[in-house]
Amino acid sequence: MFDYIDVHSHVNFNAFDVDRDETIKRALDAGVYVINVGTQQDTSKKAVEMAEKYERGVYAIVGLHPVHTGKSFHDVKELGEGNREFTSRGEVFDKNYYLELARHPKVVGIGECGLDYYRFKIEDLSWKKELEKQEETFRKHIELAIEVGKPLMLHVRNGGGRSAYRDSLSILKSYNFNLKSSPGDFHFFAGSWEEAKEILDAGFNLSFTGVITFARDYDEVIKNTPLDRIMTETDSPYVSPVPYRGKRNEPLYVQEVVKAIANIRNENFEIVKKQLVANAIRFFSLF
Ligand SMILES: [Zn+2]
Repeated sequence: MFDYIDVHSHVNFNAFDVDRDETIKRALDAGVYVINVGTQQDTSKKAVEMAEKYERGVYAIVGLHPVHTGKSFHDVKELGEGNREFTSRGEVFDKNYYLELARHPKVVGIGECGLDYYRFKIEDLSWKKELEKQEETFRKHIELAIEVGKPLMLHVRNGGGRSAYRDSLSILKSYNFNLKSSPGDFHFFAGSWEEAKEILDAGFNLSFTGVITFARDYDEVIKNTPLDRIMTETDSPYVSPVPYRGKRNEPLYVQEVVKAIANIRNENFEIVKKQLVANAIRFFSLF
């Protein structure tokens, strides 16, 4: 068994090329299970390869991140120094490629997928084309998730004066999911309590990162969300929690996120820790 789970990390990214196995070992030795999330074809495949390598404790989620459907800026932490030209071109979702990965027994979800408006500028109408592309790709992920019977790992980010949370919910609500558990997790939740409530009412879960250890903006949402609808993540290598700010993040540090949730809710740490693990086991059908 395990004590913690990082439901959204990217040890599959280039930022871990130098010490990928050691990073996973540090997590597993401390009782932290890890789910690596793909963001395009290469990182999705890598996540599956990593999951295959370990007998237990390492899983994968595969999909195409909404920012990679269009021209995206080159993130060295994700993609390394090379291939800049190729990665900025945008990927078209290849159903067969992802379906094959999605069927793998160690793949526990589909994503990260969704809508990302962060770089949209209202005065520049090109965002409408980007939005169309993102929405089309998002729908293909939803259909894939329904086909393989696995939940969605959702990346949704507001911007350009629009609520990507409301837009993505209205898309999601047009589908019938037949999962026993929640059909999806809104990863790195950064919206308002009003948006959170709509998400929870529609049956989706929320997961939180290390941001909650130093920003107080999410306290209200964390206090008001039923404990059995919350999951924990690091989004490694990004946003390290206190006391690791400024360092590369890694799954081991998810322990700080669990502590923060218990503190913010003013609840017993051991009880919170156990419930958060139970939530992930149920959501991803881990056993
Ligand atoms: Zn991510």
